[in-house]
Amino acid sequence: HNTNVKVVDAPEGHQGEGFMAMQLSKVVGLARKNSIWPLPFATSCCGIEFMATMGSTYDLARFGSERLAFTPRQCDLLMVMGTISKKMAPVLKQVYIQMAEPRWVIAVGACASSGGVFDTYSVLQGIDEVIPVDVYVPGCPPRPEAIIDGIMRIQDLVETESVRRRSSAEYQALLTSYGIK
Ligand code: SF4
Repeated sequence: HNTNVKVVDAPEGHQGEGFMAMQLSKVVGLARKNSIWPLPFATSCCGIEFMATMGSTYDLARFGSERLAFTPRQCDLLMVMGTISKKMAPVLKQVYIQMAEPRWVIAVGACASSGGVFDTYSVLQGIDEVIPVDVYVPGCPPRPEAIIDGIMRIQDLVETESVRRRSSAEYQALLTSYGIK
């Protein structure tokens, strides 16, 4: 009998999940990663580049993301492409709120990421002023390869993300900081 065994009060597995939950997370992550349904929120030129991304040359269907929809409740990836005016900001926020969990967000291009060249009173200086952003794609506009790279970065997040992370206290605190309940 070893009395020197130190009992460590640490959670089992990654982020305190049990073995079965971790295996389930992997399966769910793999399925989610290869069936991302984007919602294109395109307001200007970057949206045109996204059309090229969807065409046969770049063929986003190879990544399981060809199923676009404009109904927030059926999508899990919000792709914001273009200049977002401050008047449009509440609409963007509403669309984000209407998406079911889990949901991810890409800011495609300089305008969505930081306002781009439009450093002016009427333009939002980055969509992360109103909603959380997972991946930023640089460029004015980004080439289709860069947009695809952004989606692949999202796939990395989706695959490795715990099924419980999005309901975690940290994530809820993040939403609260954006004024999103
Ligand atoms: Fe247009 Fe450039 Fe803004 Fe994209 S980043 S919407 S290409 S001005």
